[in-house]
Amino acid sequence: MIIDRGLQTWQREKLSWLAPGARLGFVPTMGALHEGHATLLRRARQENDAVLLSIFVNPTQFNDPRDLELYPRPIEKDLQIARECGVDRVWLPEYQDLYPDEFHYRVDESFLSTQLCGRTRPGHFTGVLSVVLKLLGLAQISADPELQRAYFGEKDFQQLELIRGMVRAFALPWEIRPMPTVREPDGLALSSRNLRLSPAARAVAPRLYQVLRSATNLDRARAELEAAGFRVDYLEEHSFASGRRRFVAAFLEEVRLIDNVEI
Ligand code: AMP
Repeated sequence: MIIDRGLQTWQREKLSWLAPGARLGFVPTMGALHEGHATLLRRARQENDAVLLSIFVNPTQFNDPRDLELYPRPIEKDLQIARECGVDRVWLPEYQDLYPDEFHYRVDESFLSTQLCGRTRPGHFTGVLSVVLKLLGLAQISADPELQRAYFGEKDFQQLELIRGMVRAFALPWEIRPMPTVREPDGLALSSRNLRLSPAARAVAPRLYQVLRSATNLDRARAELEAAGFRVDYLEEHSFASGRRRFVAAFLEEVRLIDNVEI
C-alpha cells in the first residue's frame, strides 16, 4: 500500500499509476475508520481495479471548534484497516494541499443544504461540498465517469444527496456509489462519535434507530425519543428521487447522533 503524505507525489504519478482503461474506486473519509468505512473500502475493492482512500479531517465543515478538537485521529489503526481492506493507495493531504485559497472559494448550495443538518449546523455543507469538489478534482485520473467511482454512505444521506447533486450540477466525471448504513447488532449506526457516549448513553442510543423505524408518525417518534432521554434536534420526512426517508438528529448527553431510514 502506497502512502502519500501531502499530494505532490500523487500529482506527479497519478496519470501513469494505472493501466489505460483501469477503474478507480475512491473513498474519501476523515479517518477514525470503523466497519462502516471498511464496508465502503471492500465494496470499492470488489468493483474496481484500484482503490484510493483519503483521510483528511476537514476543518471547514466543523461549526463547533470543540468538535474538531475532539475528532479522533488514530492514524496507525486507520492504515492497518486500509491494508486489511485491500486499499492500494492512501492520501494524507495537509490543509495547504486542499486550501491554497484559504477557503476563499466555496461551493454554495442554496436549497437542501439549508434543511435538516444544515439548519443547526450553518456552513457545514459548504465545507463538505467544497472539500469533496477539491478531492474529486485531485483524485481524477480520467474524464470517463465509468472509470471513476466515489463511495459515500447513506448514514449521511443528506450529504450523499448533496454530493450527487453537485456532481450533476457541475458535470463532474464521477459515478457516485451509495452504500447502506452499517449498524451495530443492536441497530445503532456506526459512527466515530459513538465512542464519546457514556455506558449509560450507549445503552439508550439504539432506541434512535428503533423509534425511527417503528413509530407510526413523527409526533409519536418525538415523544418516544424524549421519554428515552434524547434531546431532539430535528425529526422530519423528506422525498427524494430514490424514495421517501425519515431523518433524525438528537443529542444524548452532549453527543449528537444522526440517523435516517427509508419509509
Ligand atoms: P466520515 O469519515 O465520517 O466523513 O465518513 C466517510 C464516509 O463513510 C462517508 O461517506 C460516510 O457516509 C461513510 N460512513 C460513515 N459511517 C458509516 C456507516 N455507519 N455506514 C455506512 N457508511 C458510513
